[in-house]
Amino acid sequence: MASPFFIAEVWVHLPAHRGLNRGLCYRHDQALNVGQLVRVEIGSTAHLGVVFACTSATSAPEGLPAHELKSVDEVLWACPPLSTEWLTLIEFTAQYYRRSPGEVAAMALPTLLKQSTNASLEKRKQRRKPKASSAATEPNPSATKTLSPEQQSALQALIAHAGTSLLHGATGSGKTEVYLRHIQQVLEQDPEAQVLVMVPEINLTPQLEQQVRERFHALGPSAVVSLHSGLTPAQRLNHWLDAHEGLARIILGTRLSVFASLPRLKLIVVDEEHDPSFKQGDGPRHSARDLAVFRGHQLGIPVVLASATPSLESWNNSAAERKSGYLRIGMPSRQGHQPMPELVVVDMNRFSRKTSLSKALEHAIKARIDASEQVLLLLNRRGYSPVLYCPDCQWTSDCPHCSAHQVLHKMDHRLHCHHCGLQTPAPRTCPSCGGHQILGLGQGTEQIEEELIHRMSEWRKPNGEPVTLMRMDADTVRLKGQLTSQLNAFHQGHADVLIGTQMVAKGHDFRRVGLVAALNPDGGLFSSDFRAPERLFALLMQAAGRAGRDPNRPSALPAQMWIQTHHPEHHLFRHLRHSDYAGFAEDELEARRSIGLPPFVHQALLRTESRKPEPALEALNRQHQRCETLAQSAQGALTVHHPVPMSMGKLAGVHRAQLLIESNSRKSLQAFLQAWDEQAAASLRQEKGLLRWAWDIDPASI
Ligand code: ADP
Ligand code: ZN
Ligand code: ZN
Repeated sequence: MASPFFIAEVWVHLPAHRGLNRGLCYRHDQALNVGQLVRVEIGSTAHLGVVFACTSATSAPEGLPAHELKSVDEVLWACPPLSTEWLTLIEFTAQYYRRSPGEVAAMALPTLLKQSTNASLEKRKQRRKPKASSAATEPNPSATKTLSPEQQSALQALIAHAGTSLLHGATGSGKTEVYLRHIQQVLEQDPEAQVLVMVPEINLTPQLEQQVRERFHALGPSAVVSLHSGLTPAQRLNHWLDAHEGLARIILGTRLSVFASLPRLKLIVVDEEHDPSFKQGDGPRHSARDLAVFRGHQLGIPVVLASATPSLESWNNSAAERKSGYLRIGMPSRQGHQPMPELVVVDMNRFSRKTSLSKALEHAIKARIDASEQVLLLLNRRGYSPVLYCPDCQWTSDCPHCSAHQVLHKMDHRLHCHHCGLQTPAPRTCPSCGGHQILGLGQGTEQIEEELIHRMSEWRKPNGEPVTLMRMDADTVRLKGQLTSQLNAFHQGHADVLIGTQMVAKGHDFRRVGLVAALNPDGGLFSSDFRAPERLFALLMQAAGRAGRDPNRPSALPAQMWIQTHHPEHHLFRHLRHSDYAGFAEDELEARRSIGLPPFVHQALLRTESRKPEPALEALNRQHQRCETLAQSAQGALTVHHPVPMSMGKLAGVHRAQLLIESNSRKSLQAFLQAWDEQAAASLRQEKGLLRWAWDIDPASI
């Protein structure tokens, strides 16, 4: 009889779409723990793998000839096994978002782990900072703020609730302070507890990281670690290991941190939970916010979703009538009883189409400068002119590789495609007819900056100095550190007027801003994307929240939010006037309910890509019939829509199409996807000329 050995089933990342593999089998002489990292060979290349099952055997598994059963190359014993809870999270993600567990695990683990050996891991651990102190947090000057009664009752409600809470607090209501106290309470109660705090983009909130470090500095140097894409591979691995081995107590991270291995996780906070960047846009497209809720549920620990403008999904989930939903906790007042800024709506129909800055707004800005305040101007378009146009022959500056215009940038006098990055010299005459009258249509941040510099050249501040302007957009913060240094410069008052794209509207705690203006927000009102109004409302509320934050402002002027629009009667602005998120949300939800849009239906998109225009769409046309047949035999109602090119049909030379499936039951939709995979996935794999295909579950836009 053959001597016994062990068969480890291992998740490895195989190139996408070789099927949703369960894993591969390898032999090993000893039993391996579930969750153990190993190195295994596929073909002749070594891969990092995760053991998800291990059984003793005397022969190779059925269907696999004994000589083909390879051995595990190396067991990475220097990294303790991942928990079964972590494996379940990976498995759930793979299943729900229709990817292989190996691919999800590869995304979740630090890249450097793939090249690490036991020796390198040991060395790394020895260089580590001393272990975090398990002592409870010491009183810290910043922790001695007295909570307002509203904050106090929000904190009590959070502590008392074991499930998911939606902390809905006005901008400046002190939500951060409330969840920091909650974290403190959790850490004090359990000297080994770990807390995960997720934020949309760490770069945009450097203040938060500093605040968390200061608040919890008594826990020791490695107690607070960050996990985000700005880290070097070595830093990311170090921080990941600190979390995995329980040394780190607070993990502050962006969307991928939802997969951090946290053996003593006791609380998850998702700040700005509505932010679209929690949804991964490529590879395994997942919603980190939704997975955070899943993870909390799985562990039976509280999850706090915080926002001034929650996603309509979370708002709907926290409606009083939903018994199994989230607990909604409101904090409507701002700190220091500061009122929300007044809304001033300027009807731009009264001016010529070319007007970018109304006289009234110009005067209002001047008044702020005279009062030694700062001004924030929001324009969500970078560059100089969004499109060039020839009136003689109607030529427009289309990107040859994308369904989009190339944008004129004046800094280098080139046309830039913001989607594929293509840059070409800006033509001086029409490339099509040779005409000399090429016009720039619309205005971007560069042009507004130029115009403002011109208009403000004669202005003086109360101290006699000239007025300074600063522009902040993806072009000015390209280099590492520029974003932080520019934000700091504005905080310190080195500029009086800051003009920028949405990055200037995020959660910054500017103290001297009295006026915020959105110069041209209309694009979000009538977009083909049904989520555009929701995003615009959130952006404008956030932007408004940057005004009048300091309770001790010396200025006698009331804080104001200005909107320049051609649609002054739009319901979005009516609700914005009263900072009435709830009213807006109820209106939008009602509209979505009546026409059957999320969160009242669940969506799955099958997306295809091809070099030539036809294969992407034709492949979906062939799938359409299969989907219909499957949908008819499925339980519950499913709607299969006709395939269409994506709204940006071409991107970087690749043609893209999509097929949308909808159901009012998540369960039916999941059952459908499972059945589709079993029956139809193979047929798509045989399509000629198809570059890629993938499901996008709960897509962020359709
Ligand atoms: P939010 O996150 O809700 O927009 P923040 O947490 O940034 O609000 O708080 C707004 C401001 O109020 C911050 O400067 C914060 O330090 C301050 N703050 C919060 N809570 C208190 C409090 N209880 N007493 C005094 N100041 C507070
Ligand atoms: Zn022309
Ligand atoms: Zn392009």
